[in-house]
Amino acid sequence: MNKNFIPFCVAKSIYDLPLTFYHKHHIKTVFVDLDNTLDAYNKLNPSSRAINLVNNFKKEKINVIIVSNNKLSRVRPYASKLDVPFLNSLRKPLLYKMRRFLKKEKIKIDEAILIGDQLITDILFANRLKMKNVLVAKLVKEDQWTTKINRLFDKRRYKKLQKQQLLVSWEEK
Ligand SMILES: [Mg+2]
Repeated sequence: MNKNFIPFCVAKSIYDLPLTFYHKHHIKTVFVDLDNTLDAYNKLNPSSRAINLVNNFKKEKINVIIVSNNKLSRVRPYASKLDVPFLNSLRKPLLYKMRRFLKKEKIKIDEAILIGDQLITDILFANRLKMKNVLVAKLVKEDQWTTKINRLFDKRRYKKLQKQQLLVSWEEK
């Protein structure tokens, strides 16, 4: 098993993670996947809980940045309603765009975390960056067709990780 597929920890949902979790790990920047992590892929506007979540981060002076493989026309309207920065068409798990961004924004890797619902994109991506990460369960069953292909891969990996007891709950971190 490639170690880069092992998440730092797991949670049912981003909405289950309390702010104390981020404080405990000295997090100043939260990179968040959009589709099926913050909201369902077909939900064009942020839900009230997404709005609340982002507002709570802002109150605590924690930066939230949306990191999505989806296209500009999907990500920009959603992110602008939350008034948060975003990176679209990121091609996770490829790193070049992200590395450029981290350098430009002077973001320290050990003060950042990534939350996402896919091993092959989000978790692999974060681990390659040596960034902490949380694997969350996808919010809804339906996926975009491109994601469906990744899911087949993810399912197998996930079962292996489970069997080898490599999935640690956020509460234990
Ligand atoms: Mg996703």
